[in-house]
Amino acid sequence: MGDLGKSAAATALEPRPRRIGVLGGTFDPVHVGHLRGALEVAESLTLDEVRLTPSARPPHRDTPQVSALDRLAMVECAVVGVAPLKVDDRELKRDKPSYTIDTLELMRAELAADDQLFLLLGWDAFCGLPTWHRWEELLQHCHILVLQRPDADSEPPDALRNLLAARSVSDPLALDGPSGQIAFVWQTPLAVSATQIRQLLASGKSVRFLVPDAVLAYIDAHGLYRASN
Ligand code: ATP
Repeated sequence: MGDLGKSAAATALEPRPRRIGVLGGTFDPVHVGHLRGALEVAESLTLDEVRLTPSARPPHRDTPQVSALDRLAMVECAVVGVAPLKVDDRELKRDKPSYTIDTLELMRAELAADDQLFLLLGWDAFCGLPTWHRWEELLQHCHILVLQRPDADSEPPDALRNLLAARSVSDPLALDGPSGQIAFVWQTPLAVSATQIRQLLASGKSVRFLVPDAVLAYIDAHGLYRASN
């Protein structure tokens, strides 16, 4: 085989860079807004997987009857049989508060240099970015995909304007390289929030069709979020 043929064969054998999405959240509880967003992004951007990464919750948000283990278990129930959706529990395993930047650094260290990491953020989470620990370093490790939500018509905060001007690309499929750019992705608008779900349950109402049936079964079996707890 000549040199040319050899390099073509070698190229064909080279693994293509992996494309990994990360959706962090308190998932208190996980709902169809999270799950459709993650699945639609996985499919439209041909990601190999999206890791749902439950976060340890700041003490002021703690609701005693719903433990981190319950939140994790509900996310695990939700993704059963949904191939591209995975659960990553590393933030709950740490004994100190974990920041997204730490998680991304750890994930990045486990990947090949040219693998692509995509941090998925709802519009509200994106607008809150300037309050995050070491937020200006996030793009060193990942691209950011902003999920359009029905509440997305508000203006981004000033601190994000320069970043958007410098780093955003209009076509999410054109995001290039392992990290460093921002794109907006359309998802089926689902104006559901975990807050609404907790409120419905606390007032004795149904959350059927707002969460997967398996999550509802878990909530019922463990009596979560009901006012009597
Ligand atoms: P809460 O009502 O308790 O604040 P939440 O429903 O916003 O919770 P989180 O766990 O805080 O859920 O959100 C995790 C991520 O999912 C965030 O980036 C958030 O913007 C995004 N997200 C939450 N709900 C939706 C939705 N309906 N559509 C698209 N993205 C969503």
